[in-house]
Amino acid sequence: MAVPKLQQLAKSVVQGPSLATGAIPTRDWMDIPVVFKSGNYAYPAKKEKVEYLNSQSGLHFPNAREWSPEDDDWKLPEDWKEIILKGLKERLDKFRSLKIFMDCCVRCGACADKCHFFLGTGDPKNMPVLRAELLRSVYRNDFTLAGKILGKMAGAREMTVGVLKEWFMYSYQCTECRRCSVFCPYGIDTAEVTMMLRELLHLVGVGINWILEPASNSNRTGNHMGLQPHTFKDNVEFLLDDVENLTGIRPNISFNRKGAEILFITPSADVFAEPGLYTAMGYMLLFEAIGLDYTWSTYASEGGNFGLFTNNETMKKLNAKMYAEAKRLGVKYILGGECGHMWRVLHQYMDTMNGPADFLEKPVSPITGTVFENAASTKMVHISEFTADLIKHGKIKFDKSRNSHVKATFHDSCNTARAMGLLDEPRYILDHVVDWVEMPENTIREQTFCCGSGTGLNTDEIMELRMRSGLPRANAVKYVHEKHGVNMLACVCAIDRATLTSLMNYWNPGVSVCGLTELVANALVVEGETRGELEEGLRTML
Ligand code: SF4
Ligand code: SF4
Repeated sequence: MAVPKLQQLAKSVVQGPSLATGAIPTRDWMDIPVVFKSGNYAYPAKKEKVEYLNSQSGLHFPNAREWSPEDDDWKLPEDWKEIILKGLKERLDKFRSLKIFMDCCVRCGACADKCHFFLGTGDPKNMPVLRAELLRSVYRNDFTLAGKILGKMAGAREMTVGVLKEWFMYSYQCTECRRCSVFCPYGIDTAEVTMMLRELLHLVGVGINWILEPASNSNRTGNHMGLQPHTFKDNVEFLLDDVENLTGIRPNISFNRKGAEILFITPSADVFAEPGLYTAMGYMLLFEAIGLDYTWSTYASEGGNFGLFTNNETMKKLNAKMYAEAKRLGVKYILGGECGHMWRVLHQYMDTMNGPADFLEKPVSPITGTVFENAASTKMVHISEFTADLIKHGKIKFDKSRNSHVKATFHDSCNTARAMGLLDEPRYILDHVVDWVEMPENTIREQTFCCGSGTGLNTDEIMELRMRSGLPRANAVKYVHEKHGVNMLACVCAIDRATLTSLMNYWNPGVSVCGLTELVANALVVEGETRGELEEGLRTML
């Protein structure tokens, strides 16, 4: 579906009749059915992808079939309702947080206007409180005394096909960014409610292709694009050619090398798609400059974890792959590249899913001797922590003027900012390598606005929705673009690098997107280099 012209969409967001612009709904939310039409839903998962996942040990993806959200009949299994309620009970018993989130919302509304989907669409069901209510209403009906006795008066409703369709619509209009939870006085994490909704939907074969295909590719070949090991290796080596042409330095790299000190894992998007490619070139140049003893893996060739957007079992399995490879190669620890959800999984779930990784060593920088106590259990260090530490100890030299073509601002990726608290290290690095400014206060750090297309929503058939949900982020960039001449949006997440590029092209042409390590490598002074003036740093076409 074509995306409306910018002026048209901007007017629709600002003036269109919606709760966000003051219009009062005329019907109770429970009485408004969802209507699927081209452009407002992501395509269902292909039958063969679901079948493949269901055939894998430890995974459960039943009811593979052809179906369409626009059809009345979704071809659900006959006992779909029992499956859903049983699944909900199991999860209430297993996840104490879910039970708490179901019980403790006081409907204060503090979260209501904090969600970028609500701000961009004005749809009341995109208010976090109401998104959670989609599940809570069913919970009340079947699992609470008040709901059983008082029914709708207690905010309860029966599980119906209409409710299931509503779950599908709104659990895929949430990027699980957790911005709402920052403002909730009770710490309710609506992202985890969305995760449960998606898990329950998978039990009856309802899921989207842009998540299940990457998840199955990651399980089968090690990365979400399904690149075979030799292709992954070739892609990385092509980047070496580019680094050599630009700088005269050909970094020394290895794959699957047993006995290397460090295993380096980054999102695979960094080795095959712009603008991530420049970030990958940056990693290699940086590691060469400090003489790091590290190896890439063609087996653990994906840092991103599409299981996070799917269900716990898939997340656990994809996460385990990185540790299995670290063990097989006999490295001391893992160094992780610029990714968002890899780090969310690491910091919030890894320890109880697959950890602690006691067979690895507590990470110590071989260059500075710094012990990364924060990674004592996961044994995995973020590239920004690692780089900031190198800078602090004066182990790398920069010529900041090499980034004089850039006026940057920094997008805190939701997962690294809110899920792991990586707030100051990227800023410390930026201070040393480039001229940059902050976006407005309520749009950065813990309060950062999502790119609008995370959690597997980076798919073209919902482009209008993505441009709407990304508007709060784009708006903050527009402010610094107009006020300070910002022309580069830096971030530490591969999905952001892809989604923000589309977002900037639409709302803020003239602002490009880059990874932080690209800016680091642009300014890095490496012994023996022969680089001339590179007008656009590592992006320069020679
Ligand atoms: S801020 Fe928290 S308690 Fe208040 S409505 Fe939102 S989820 Fe409920
Ligand atoms: S997690 Fe993010 S996308 Fe989901 S409801 Fe909260 S603010 Fe909205």
